[in-house]
Parts: sequence; C-alpha cells; structure tokens
Amino acid sequence: MFFLESRSNKSGGLNIGLMGGTFDPIHMGHLVTAEEARQQFDLDYVIFVPAGIPPHKDEAAISLPEHRYLMTSLAVMSNPSFFVSRMEIDQEQPTYTIDTVRHFACGNEPGPEIFFITGADAILEIFTWKDYEDLLRLCTFIAVSRPGYSLDRFYESLDRSCPDMRHKVHLLEIPALAVSSTFIRERVALSKTIKYLTPEPVEQYIRKHGLYKSGG
Ligand code: ATP
Ligand code: MG
Repeated sequence: MFFLESRSNKSGGLNIGLMGGTFDPIHMGHLVTAEEARQQFDLDYVIFVPAGIPPHKDEAAISLPEHRYLMTSLAVMSNPSFFVSRMEIDQEQPTYTIDTVRHFACGNEPGPEIFFITGADAILEIFTWKDYEDLLRLCTFIAVSRPGYSLDRFYESLDRSCPDMRHKVHLLEIPALAVSSTFIRERVALSKTIKYLTPEPVEQYIRKHGLYKSGG
C-alpha cells in the first residue's frame, strides 16, 4: 500500500477505484463488482478499504478488523490490480467515506481520479453520508446493480438533493450475484458449505479461525 500511495501521488493521472465495506467476509459479489468496474472504467487499481468501526453497523457483531483485513488480502492476492488498504482499520475513531476519499485524493492537483464503487444498497443511502455533497464533488461513484435493490428512482433523489450531479454517479449492470456476507455468515453458523461463494483461501481462513460459528 505504501508503494501504491507514493506512486499515485507522484504520477497523478491514475484512475483509482476504491471499494469500502465491512468485508465480513469478502465474497465473490465484491470481487466480480470490482473487476467489472476496473474493466469498464479503465481503473489502474482497485483498493479495497475494510472499515474499522463502521458508523452504520453494530460493532459487537463484527469480526476483528485484523481478520477482515487478512481475508480481504487473501481474496485479492491473485489480481495484480487489486490492493487492500489498512487506512480505516488503523484508525481508532469511526471513519467516514469522505475521510478515506480525501486521503486517496491526496489534495494534489492533478491527483489521481477517484472512483468510489458501491452496491445499489449503499448508494441508495448516500444522502445520509457525512459531507455527501463534498464527496460527490471529490469523486465519481460507480453504483452497481445488486439483487433485491432497485436503482430506478435513484437519479430523481439525486436531482432533489444535489442538482447537476448526475454525471458524478454512473450505474453499472453486473452479472447478478445474490451473495452477501450475511448469507455466508449464516451458512457457516449452520455448518453449510460456502464453497465458491468466496475464494478458497478465505474459506480456509474462516475454518482455521472458527469464524461465524456462533452465528451473526
Ligand atoms: P453484509 O451482509 O454484512 O452487509 P455485504 O455482502 O453487504 O455484507 P458489505 O461489506 O456490507 O458486504 O458491502 C461492501 C460493498 O459491496 C457495498 O457497497 C455493497 O453494496 C457491495 N456489495 C456487497 N455484495 C454485493 C453483491 N453481491 N453485488 C454487488 N455489490 C455488492
Ligand atoms: Mg452490506
């Protein structure tokens, strides 16, 4: 990551995709989404940013940041364009997307162009995010389809809250994968197979550390 950050600082002009999430655990839905965004938007890198203390989630119910970081690292190992950042998990305070994007945008001109990749469920909540207007100015959003969430009315809400910002949110259709981390956690708790829902090294990590055994 240090290598990556210093490189993007110096050269500028890079297209960097950021994907935030709890990643408890990372799964094929995240990876397919990131890879499709990388290709469609000509991203040089996609950086996964596991959340430290997610502002919107119950802290007690989430695996330790180090577990989530390591599983995410295992999952991206085979993709030369994918990286993982410790930026959020190393913070003691809850972090917000605006802080993360500012960190990677580096405040330099010309800096890298930041694309924030989210699923449909997350983008529908963007108007509740801290400083979302600044966020829309600072980066471009790639909102991907996700089974169970409709983006049909998203632009109407965007026009109401942030007129003239349509060009900052791109909708991207991806092959539908109805997998979620919740689904995987529930299956592990029930001793059901999670093969092919997450990369094999992640599956092995979950087994080795006995994660999700008590449900949740
Ligand atoms: P949980 O069930 O614990 O909420 P999750 O599967 O939603 O987990 P998150 O870590 O909450 O995963 O999500 C990180 C990002 O990935 C979010 O922007 C979310 O919308 C997106 N995402 C997660 N699963 C999918 C999927 N199957 N297809 C498209 N996007 C997804
Ligand atoms: Mg989620």
